[in-house]
Amino acid sequence: MTELAEAPAAGRDESVTRIPHWIGGQRVEGTSGRSGPVYNPATGAQTGAVDLSTIEEVDAAVQNAAAAWESWRTVSLARRAELFFRIRELFHAHREDLARSLTAEHGKVLSDAMGEVARGLEVIEYACGIPTLVKGEFSEQASTGIDVYSIRQPLGVVAGITPFNFPAMVPMWMWAPAIACGNCFVLKPSEKDPSPSLLTAELLKEAGLPDGVFNVVHGDKVAVDALLEHPRVVAVSFVGSTPIARYIYETGTKHGKRVQALGGAKNHMIVLPDADVDMAADAAVSAGYGSAGERCMAVSVLVAVGDVADPLVEAIKQRLPKVKVGNGLEPASEMGPLVTREHRDKVASYIASGSEQGATVVADGRETAPDGDGFFLGVSLLDNVTTEMDAYRDEIFGPVLSVVRATSYDEALALVNDNPYGNGVALFTRDGGVARQFQFEVTAGMVGINVPIPVPVAYYSFGGWKASLFGDSHAYGPESIHFYTRGKVVTSRWPDPATSAVDLGFPQTR
Ligand code: NAD
Repeated sequence: MTELAEAPAAGRDESVTRIPHWIGGQRVEGTSGRSGPVYNPATGAQTGAVDLSTIEEVDAAVQNAAAAWESWRTVSLARRAELFFRIRELFHAHREDLARSLTAEHGKVLSDAMGEVARGLEVIEYACGIPTLVKGEFSEQASTGIDVYSIRQPLGVVAGITPFNFPAMVPMWMWAPAIACGNCFVLKPSEKDPSPSLLTAELLKEAGLPDGVFNVVHGDKVAVDALLEHPRVVAVSFVGSTPIARYIYETGTKHGKRVQALGGAKNHMIVLPDADVDMAADAAVSAGYGSAGERCMAVSVLVAVGDVADPLVEAIKQRLPKVKVGNGLEPASEMGPLVTREHRDKVASYIASGSEQGATVVADGRETAPDGDGFFLGVSLLDNVTTEMDAYRDEIFGPVLSVVRATSYDEALALVNDNPYGNGVALFTRDGGVARQFQFEVTAGMVGINVPIPVPVAYYSFGGWKASLFGDSHAYGPESIHFYTRGKVVTSRWPDPATSAVDLGFPQTR
C-alpha cells in the first residue's frame, strides 16, 4: 500500500506534505493553485497542505463515480457482502495506522483515536449484513394470479461532507452503508484533518473495491457548493455545525437532492439529588473533557438539581488536576490539544466571558495548559452558569464544562427542552420511574440513563432533534439503509410457464 507521506511538491516547504484528491482509484494532484494548511495541533507546526478543489475537479470525481455506478449497481449482494468482510479485516488490521493519522492532524489522544476507529468499524461490520438489510417483502396472491413485492435499489452517486472532529468514523458512518447499498460515493472531508480519508481510499482499493466507487475531493465552500449543485449527485449526507447543516439542507433540497444534515449540539447531563455523586462526577469529567470536548456528544452543561450541586462540583474539582493534558502520541496523555490555534483561543474566550458575566471559575484551563506552541487548553469548570451567559448559549466545542444549578427535576427538564439543540442528553438517578418519565418527555434524539455519552450501537441509528438535525433520516443503522436506497413495488402476473429445465448442480447464490 502507498505510504501516506509523499515527497512534497516542488516549490513547497520541504517539511510540509502535499495532500491530494483521490479520484477514479488514484491520487490526483489539485490544479486550483489553492491549498489549506494542516497542522500537528500538539506542536503547532504546519505538517501538510491540502489541495482545495475546483468545480471541474469535483465534476471529475462525480463523473468517475457515475461511470463506476453502471457496473457497481449490478454487483450481487453476495459479492458485496464478501467485499465488506475483506474491508472489515483490512481496516481492523490497519486500525492503529488510521488512529495515528488522525491523532497527527486532529490532536486527540491515541487511545481515543483507537476508540473512534473501533466505533467506525462497527458500522462496517453492520454493512457486512447488506443482503439481509435490503430484503424486500412479498405478498403472494395479492389478487387472483397476482403477486406484489417490494425491492430497494441504490440511488446512484451520493456525497458525504464531514467535520474535523471524527475524521475517520463519521466518513465511515456514510460510505460504508452507502457503498454496501450499491451507490458510488464522493467524500468531501474536513480540510483541517484530511489524511485519514486518503488512507481510507487506499485501504478500500486494497480490499478490492472497484475504482471510482469511492472518491475524495478536498476543499472548502467551492467544493461543497459544486457537490450540492451537481445534477448527478442524488443525495448528500452532512455532519458539522448547525449553520452549515441548515445551509446544506436548504441548498441541497433546492437542487432536488435527498439530504440528511446533522448539526451541532449543547448536551446537558442532569444529576438528580439521589444520584451516586462519585459515579456522576467520573461521568461528567469523562464526557466533558474527553477528546478535549470536541465531540458532538460531549457533555457541556451539567445540571445539578437541589442539594447535589455542592458535593458534585467538589467531586469534579478534585478530579480535574489528575487529568493529564499533553501530546496525543504520549501514552500517558488523556486529553490532547484543540484542533487549531483560532479554535483554542475562541474556546478560551468563554472562560473570560463566563467570569465577566457572573459565573464562578472553579478551574481555569488557561492557567494549566502545557507550555509550547501546541494548541492546548487545560480543563475548565464554570459554576453558577445561567441561561443568559455566552458559555451556556453557544456550542463551545472545547474542554469547558458549565454547571447550571436547578431547584427541581421540572426546571432541569425545561432547560433541555427549551434549548434549540437536541442531540444527546443524560440523566443520572437511581429512580427508575423518573428515568422512564424523562425518556418520554425529553426532546432530544439520543438519551442516556446513567450513561453520559449515549452514542447508539451500529444497529440503531444516530441523530438529534431540533437544530441538531435537518432532514428525516438519522445516520448509520437501519435509517441509513433507507436513506441510501429507493423503494420500488412490483405488481406481477404470469402466464402458466413451461420454462423449467434439468440442472443437477448444487444451487449457488452467485
Ligand atoms: P463545520 O460546519 O465548520 O464543517 C463541516 C464541513 O462543512 C467541513 O467539511 C467544511 O469544510 C464544510 N464547510 C464549512 N464551512 C462551510 C461553508 N460556509 N459552506 C459550505 N461548506 C462549509 O464543522 P466542524 O467545525 O468541522 O465540526 C464541528 C461541528 O460539527 C460541531 O458543531 C459539532 O457539534 C458538529 N458535529 C455534529 C455531529 C452530529 O452527529 N450531530 C457529529 C460531529 C460533529
